[in-house]
Amino acid sequence: MSTEASEKLQKKNKANPQVWKFYKIDGTKLIYLKRECPRCGKGVFLAEHSDRFSCGKCGFTQFKRSK
Ligand SMILES: [Zn+2]
Repeated sequence: MSTEASEKLQKKNKANPQVWKFYKIDGTKLIYLKRECPRCGKGVFLAEHSDRFSCGKCGFTQFKRSK
């Protein structure tokens, strides 16, 4: 029972700063994984879908370019 409790604690600690999902560190460079909304500006990120990005705030949609 005590081991189960400690496992739960570890999982909680793992799901930490969500902000870091938005960035990727490549050497010394910080790469944005998310696109910011051109209408809402900084801090508002577009949600990624399989074929497009969309803003949950203003409804802006940007389609991904097919190769
Ligand atoms: Zn927006």
